[in-house]
Amino acid sequence: MTSTLVFTDMDGTLLDHHTYSFDAAKPALNALEQKQIPVIPTTSKTFAEMKVLRDQIGLNGPFIIENGAAVYIPHGFFKQKPAGTVWVDGYWCKAFISSKNYWLKLLDKVSKEFKDEFTQFSAMDIEDIQEATGLDAKSAMLASQRQFGEPVLWKGTNERKQAFIKAISDRGATPLEGGRFVHVSGNSDKGQALAWLVAEYQRQNVQKVNAIALGDGKNDIAMLEAADTAVRILSPVNPPPEVKKEEVYTSTLPGPQGWNEMLTQLLSL
Ligand SMILES: [Mg+2]
Repeated sequence: MTSTLVFTDMDGTLLDHHTYSFDAAKPALNALEQKQIPVIPTTSKTFAEMKVLRDQIGLNGPFIIENGAAVYIPHGFFKQKPAGTVWVDGYWCKAFISSKNYWLKLLDKVSKEFKDEFTQFSAMDIEDIQEATGLDAKSAMLASQRQFGEPVLWKGTNERKQAFIKAISDRGATPLEGGRFVHVSGNSDKGQALAWLVAEYQRQNVQKVNAIALGDGKNDIAMLEAADTAVRILSPVNPPPEVKKEEVYTSTLPGPQGWNEMLTQLLSL
């Protein structure tokens, strides 16, 4: 027997890039629910954001947060406690990197060298974060509750930013540059988290797993490569990510339309 697990990115994949709507994916979502195929959000979003969003979508299985930093598994999804997990906020949690406190201490160590050249999420109030990110108050509040990393808002020159990136990399961080922010965190990715959950599923269910992954961006590459079936969802803003795999599917429609299109085809829903 083969069990199918669907791992999916959120923004631009299950959620429309512009409107964040998942309406167009509802036929496939309903069919997957009927077939008891888990849909596992695999996202850069935080635990706080995902708790709200999975209720809205109507998902009740595991989910992967902060770009693969941790997997959260609801009680009852597995018969036994998943290996290497701890009980957090009503879920079994498997973390792959150090929690935020570790990265805050690391930032503290370099702060003298880069005095007044950066600020960081934990030092900003919700209005500051809103101004820097363009998020509304509620979204900014949820986005600020990061557990496994700390976004740094760079205020100095680009040259000094590169020096800062080197300084924290030398101390063991894996910083990610994105626009005005440098995300300071450890070395995790969505692919590692997918592989762990698939292995645990096989360990507890003695079935072969067919892992299907869907994504639209660069931070989905590791997940797409780790899956049995890789599906790139057409993006209105960036070209399909380069995936090193013999067979890669690409949707003809964008976002949730493409999500619905591809899963309907692949799983004959
Ligand atoms: Mg995306």
